[in-house]
Amino acid sequence: MTAKIMDGNLLAREMRAAWKGRAQHLAEQGSQPGLAVIIAGNDPASRIYVRNKAKACVETGIYSEIHEFSENVSQDEVIRRIQELNENLRINGILVQLPLPPHFENDKVFASIAVEKDVDGFHPYNVGALATGNAIFPPCTPHGVMHMLEKYGIPVEGQHAVVVGRSNIVGKPMALMLLQKSATVTICTSKTRDLAEHTRRADILVVAAGKPRMISAAMIKAGAAVIDVGINRLPDGSLTGDVDFDSVKEKAGYITPVPGGVGPMTITMLLCNTIEAAERAQTQC
Ligand code: NDP
Repeated sequence: MTAKIMDGNLLAREMRAAWKGRAQHLAEQGSQPGLAVIIAGNDPASRIYVRNKAKACVETGIYSEIHEFSENVSQDEVIRRIQELNENLRINGILVQLPLPPHFENDKVFASIAVEKDVDGFHPYNVGALATGNAIFPPCTPHGVMHMLEKYGIPVEGQHAVVVGRSNIVGKPMALMLLQKSATVTICTSKTRDLAEHTRRADILVVAAGKPRMISAAMIKAGAAVIDVGINRLPDGSLTGDVDFDSVKEKAGYITPVPGGVGPMTITMLLCNTIEAAERAQTQC
């Protein structure tokens, strides 16, 4: 079997075209959606991500601002800036690019974002709301994965979903969203004994470990939907996922490529959340 490739670039283009109309509609009424991105430090990958997000905003009709800070900026200074942005009517969404410098406490920074502008879905309120199935803004990466499953007609209800990774930004919210759709969910971590024993039982396998090509064909069930969230840069500068794409695609039913799979959907969900935040703000005016 050769897997159907789940084309994140194509889906992202379709969704952005549909949402651009909503952004334009808001702009015509004097309420163009606005996103502020905070970046602290000199991580080269983060700078590329932030540039890509700003470019995607322009293409979708969203106003964007980048707030750059040095590596040794104090947490209080960043929080003060977030509090100003909370009050800024031009801004509907605030995103804090990760990783923050080591002296930061991520949770305190996320908690300082106004809940209605938390378009990344990392505020403790949104995290709790997701756990009860009522997220205001679902975190962008797992939200993008759920859209991909839906668009490709992959059933979730009653399926066995295995999530590799338990980070707060991908693994945990991914597992909650699959559970919300009535999948039977297993979460694996670096401490899991015999990882392959679990991954081989997955109808839907989502891998977010940050370990290049750790999932081989021998570790999956024939016909499974394999979603590769990982983005790893190899010594030669190329990007690869957590899944050994070439071998796994010969056994899986569906597979996402890296790049061009989950990544473009993550940015798209951020744009959608920002437009939705602007629509909600306008309704409240
Ligand atoms: P983290 O490093 O925060 O979390 C990695 C998780 O994987 C941890 O829970 C860790 O377990 C688990 N893990 C590591 N090694 C193994 C292993 N051998 N077996 C089982 N579990 C393992 O990473 P993130 O969640 O932030 O990101 C994961 C990957 O996804 C990265 O490559 C990142 O670049 C990418 N990413 C991609 C996005 C996209 O849009 N496509 C968006 C965000 C991230 P433990 O908790 O026990 O340490």
